[in-house]
Amino acid sequence: MRFDEITAVQPTYQSLAADYADVHEALDRGDLRRALAEWDRLRRVNETWLSLVHLHFSQDTLNPQYKSDRNYADELGPVIIGYDTAIRRRLLALDAAPVVTQYGQHALDIWRNEVTTFDAVIAEDLEEESRLEARYTELLASAKIEFDGKILNLAGLVPYTESLNRNTRYRATRTRWVFFEKNGDELDEIYSRLTRLRHAMACKLGDTTFTALGYRRMGRLDYGVEEVASYRREILTHVVPLIGRVIRQRQHENHLDVLYAWDEALVDAAGNPKPEGDGDTLASKAQLMFNGMDSRLAGFYRRMNDGNFMDLMIRPTKAGGGFCTAFPIFGMPYIFANFNGTHHDIDVFTHEMGHAFQYYQSRNQPTVDYLWPTAEAAEIHSMALEFLSYPMIDTMFGEQAERYRRMHLISALEFLPYGACVDHFQHEIYANPNASPSERHAIWLKLERLYLPWRKWGDLSYPAKGGRWQAQGHIFSSPFYYIDYTLAGCCALQFWVKSQENYRACFDAYVNLCSLGGSAPFTGLIEAAGLKSPFEPGVLEGVVKVAAQRLAL
Ligand SMILES: [Zn+2]
Repeated sequence: MRFDEITAVQPTYQSLAADYADVHEALDRGDLRRALAEWDRLRRVNETWLSLVHLHFSQDTLNPQYKSDRNYADELGPVIIGYDTAIRRRLLALDAAPVVTQYGQHALDIWRNEVTTFDAVIAEDLEEESRLEARYTELLASAKIEFDGKILNLAGLVPYTESLNRNTRYRATRTRWVFFEKNGDELDEIYSRLTRLRHAMACKLGDTTFTALGYRRMGRLDYGVEEVASYRREILTHVVPLIGRVIRQRQHENHLDVLYAWDEALVDAAGNPKPEGDGDTLASKAQLMFNGMDSRLAGFYRRMNDGNFMDLMIRPTKAGGGFCTAFPIFGMPYIFANFNGTHHDIDVFTHEMGHAFQYYQSRNQPTVDYLWPTAEAAEIHSMALEFLSYPMIDTMFGEQAERYRRMHLISALEFLPYGACVDHFQHEIYANPNASPSERHAIWLKLERLYLPWRKWGDLSYPAKGGRWQAQGHIFSSPFYYIDYTLAGCCALQFWVKSQENYRACFDAYVNLCSLGGSAPFTGLIEAAGLKSPFEPGVLEGVVKVAAQRLAL
């Protein structure tokens, strides 16, 4: 299977009406088996089309055809959700036993949750939400930044923000924030509209704020805002002081009188290790790395590479960041990234490979609802693979491998307070949907001082006044997603600890977790994988302690 063989027929209003009428007809006839099969096939077809449209748009945000396809998908998306919701409602009204026999109880729990996130009265709002999210992506992708005689986009600036030369780091960091300052009003406007829109949708669905709806949209069936708030407190208590020590150590190692924000990204005083070789070399070295880790993973990567299911190199007008998407009709995932020659390339690559491998392992789950788990579980597959690559990472970093492992472990810990800050910010934002832009910036600043008390912005006035959050795409496009990385991080660290005791057994448990896909909720999946819940008091503290010992902190 090759990526260029992946095609999708664009549905129309008429074709959707006819296709979903077939499902209803089968239900009318009492033919549940046939209705479920037809509905599942239809959802795989639609998802394949949506994935392809979103991928194309991310690959070239200025391509007029891709843009118009994305607009059409934004328009049709809520229509499809409307049809799916109607089917779910009908299925939930039937005798549950035959569905439970076929799919297990969890599918019904998913549907029962999902029907509460949609009603025809919010269809237009959803379309508008999607348009605003696309506008954010376009605006950031449009960055053409002149730096040292080159024209760069935001991802292209990253290597300079990690330079050994302090002045280069400062200039690159300043240049980045000048871009955000210049576009700050539009970013504020996009976010004002998004928060008002989300609040209005929640009210139309009977909620008092967007938070409860946001949690339901994330499919959280087994925990709520209290559990998340107490997890953030665990991070504050057990991780923030530790990172304070990490930062002081960095300041000392780099012989700096003050460690400013532009000094933070230089984790290794000898220079952050870089992978050896260009993108193509890395792609073939990755095969050697995966060969040494596990034969199932190695075979899967060969299929991805041979079939061209990856777009890794940085290009102008490409959307920022990295992600994994999939084409359910064909059972293949796809990896999107922006390699810029730094260690991030390997972080992103092993991360997205984890998502892709999970998708591939669980592609034969009986329902499309089980192909992906909820996000906090999905991020375990990706983040754990970053750690499970440690023993073979020498393939990518040669003699710098040990320094890469140290840097990666430090970064994983450093991420936890930032992740909690982004999450806390969103809880305050949706509790105050009418806050003005300057009030929002003040909320960020207050939380930044709580979770990242070491941060010193110096004379970078825009982030110093609280503008940092505008660079975090999830705040715009994936509300409440961010804590999921910190929950998964706690689980991925547990995999890291286990991998040192028995790598083989640990990798088997990892593959087993991947194969389960989304067939259980978060806490059920981690229990099946033999992991402890991050919500259990002391679990985060325990795993962070092991990491701190390894780092001699
Ligand atoms: Zn991920």
